Amino acid sequence: MLLPILGRPMLCHTIAAFEACPEIGSIVVTAAEHDVEAVKDIIAAEGFTKVARIVPGGPTRQDSVRIGLQAVPEDAPLVAIHDGARPAVTQEVILRTLEAAYQHGAAVAAVRSIDTVKLADEADFVAATPPRDRTWSVQTPQTFHTDLIREAHRRAVEDGFVGTDDASLVERLGRPVKLVEGSRDNIKVTYPEDVQAVEAIIRRRRGEGQPDPGFRVGMGYDIHRLVEGRPLMLGGVAIPSAVGLFGHSDADAALHAVMDALLGAAGLPDIGCQFPNTDPAYAGASSLHLLERVVTLLRQNGWRPANVDITIIAEQPKLAPHIPAMKLAISDVLGVPQSQVGVKATTNERVGPIGAGEAIAAYAVAAIVRDVRLP
Ligand code: MG
Repeated sequence: MLLPILGRPMLCHTIAAFEACPEIGSIVVTAAEHDVEAVKDIIAAEGFTKVARIVPGGPTRQDSVRIGLQAVPEDAPLVAIHDGARPAVTQEVILRTLEAAYQHGAAVAAVRSIDTVKLADEADFVAATPPRDRTWSVQTPQTFHTDLIREAHRRAVEDGFVGTDDASLVERLGRPVKLVEGSRDNIKVTYPEDVQAVEAIIRRRRGEGQPDPGFRVGMGYDIHRLVEGRPLMLGGVAIPSAVGLFGHSDADAALHAVMDALLGAAGLPDIGCQFPNTDPAYAGASSLHLLERVVTLLRQNGWRPANVDITIIAEQPKLAPHIPAMKLAISDVLGVPQSQVGVKATTNERVGPIGAGEAIAAYAVAAIVRDVRLP
């Protein structure tokens, strides 16, 4: 259960699936006695919040489940019993068993048999061939009304019955057990080669191994208040104006939107994180210089800007005469032709605070492409 799967103990993948399921209230983990301390450390390090108890199991799987059931909260209406060695279980499968168990009392995840199944006699001769469309391979979760599964385990102990799964303990009480669609990905890691198989499943789910399209897009937005006594900087250009944008740096809302679009495209933290306004180093900083830093950061992460498109929303002053200078300044820093920099300006039709001339806002969209450097 502690075998590493993609560098994380298998049990943690399994617990994470239940932890993420809103319908699951608490989790009881049973582990071999000699693993209990290690399991406690690992679970504490992962920060799982739903793991209520970690208890030492018994000599057999069935004993461990019975002991685990004793640690389940009294008021839990349903219990989903799951193998720690099935780390690729999904919320969908867990939920299907919960819904069916709620309705029918007992439900197990299962997949229809692909192979024809033979029942053998003790000498390995075929005793019967059940129809394939009625044979299923069962998995876990196996989910039950709490009272029912506790009763089934009590009766199994009384009768000395040992089953290979929990459902069989319920079946022998004559109670219905519903089969619900599990998943072919929900494999039980049993043999060494299963590790690679389950790692491939998890990687596929994460979208790893998909061809990289080689480009990303991002969007940015910024707004600054207009105040007297500040220069008006927009798109890297000083614009004659009685009022200017208020902020820690030069408050160039257009370039701030561009930087956030570029950073967002690369999946990097935003400008507030890169250049905190609590840092005196950025007091009055030129946003063109900050944009240069962002371009360097992109390159360090294997990206370069492809194009940006900016919309500035300002009631005053008229920005159209300054757009060519903005395009020139921005294209210089981004290292792209001016045809790959779009700058548009619009008013807010006198609507709201921007329309009243209290602030200027800007939106930007940016595309970045893989920065392929020859060695
Ligand atoms: Mg800003």
